[in-house]
Amino acid sequence: MSSDRHVIVVGAGPGGLAAAARLHERGSGRVAVTLISPGLRATFLGGTLEVALGDQEPAAFTAAVDLAGVRCIDAAVSAVAPDGVALDGERLAADAVIAAPGLAVDAESVPRWSRALAAWDPHGAWRLRERVLDLPAGRVLVAITAVPYRCPPAPLALAVGLAGRHLEARHAVRVTVATPEPVPLAGVGGEAPAFVSDACAAAGVTLERGFVPDLDASADGVLRATDGREISYDGAFLVPVHRRAVCLEGLPGPGPLVAVGDRGSVDGSLLYVVGDAAATGLPRAAGFASGAAVAAADGALESLGIAPAPPPPALEASCFMFHHGRAISRIGVRYAQDGPSVRIDGPSRDLWPARAGELRRFLEAAGAGGSGPTAAG
Ligand SMILES: Cc1cc2nc3c(=O)[nH]c(=O)nc-3n(C[C@H](O)[C@H](O)[C@H](O)COP(=O)(O)OP(=O)(O)OC[C@H]3O[C@@H](n4cnc5c(N)ncnc54)[C@H](O)[C@@H]3O)c2cc1C
Repeated sequence: MSSDRHVIVVGAGPGGLAAAARLHERGSGRVAVTLISPGLRATFLGGTLEVALGDQEPAAFTAAVDLAGVRCIDAAVSAVAPDGVALDGERLAADAVIAAPGLAVDAESVPRWSRALAAWDPHGAWRLRERVLDLPAGRVLVAITAVPYRCPPAPLALAVGLAGRHLEARHAVRVTVATPEPVPLAGVGGEAPAFVSDACAAAGVTLERGFVPDLDASADGVLRATDGREISYDGAFLVPVHRRAVCLEGLPGPGPLVAVGDRGSVDGSLLYVVGDAAATGLPRAAGFASGAAVAAADGALESLGIAPAPPPPALEASCFMFHHGRAISRIGVRYAQDGPSVRIDGPSRDLWPARAGELRRFLEAAGAGGSGPTAAG
């Protein structure tokens, strides 16, 4: 490579894609950028809901990664350090590393039951649909097995969406959503906790709070909590336990998350961890991952003497809920220097273009196009 410096980006989610684009854009031709991700496919995880609700197929939410000016390597990184990464038994040296491998979902954390499946991505949701969508009668359960998990409103949005679909299909299905959190979305704040609780009530969804599943004490068709409560079900969609990505093993931090400092730096070094894998106190959301990645890329460029870092951008993210009658609502969260703010829009059918725009921007960031989901699915 003829460039002065080499920066490696790990992962092709919103974090990795934003970091690679920013490094290329502001690197002034002096930084060679390498992005490494298994399969070199980017997945819009938010599409899990549209797939589970029968509106779309998983292919609508993935794109091949093809970034102008960035060398892309199809591989899984096994270890990261400030001066390079390990992959396929080899070492690739760098002047800085930005790691955004997200969180690994542990499907094996849930026993092999016939009525319940654990998944939390569009392909997993495709396998799960028949258990929770095609049921003509009975009880459907959406349960979060452990915290932290990705996108706090998403399981509640899924439960509300499933209730609407069963109502439309005239199924005699009741939907329950169980969360270990005493107050869902307390970490998001503002009107968000009341909004999701009200949305569940309006959709006829039973909300079980503070329900910490005891998977060892549970069985196929009944989920038990550590406090003795139990929920019987005919079909269940379980959000699996989230674990730390293998390449981040050994780094400091609580549970699956890596402790980070300014701009995502680990111990003040030129190794940055951003996105879902970083212990930032923020909810796990795409906009936060990409904003933190931009801040990390700017920090790396400044530390390498390439360009002074502008102030970190305000962090913004949106999550959508799917209501009866194909209306959707948006929970928008913004963290700026003057503090966090929450904005709720809808429910309205007019918000579908906003949802489609999020998907389109993600696919474009991966190097592809896409029209995104519509109200008609
Ligand atoms: C069901 C669901 C619904 C969601 N809905 C929303 C929503 O509506 N709005 C919102 O803002 N957010 C939503 N999110 C959250 C959002 O998708 C995540 O916060 C975001 O994707 C995190 O980005 P990331 O780059 O940190 O990690 P990820 O998106 O998880 O990307 C990680 C990347 O790293 C790669 N990788 C993993 N391990 C390695 C390795 N060892 N070596 C190399 N590469 C590796 C992966 O293949 C992947 O490409 C949702 C998430 C889920 C699961």
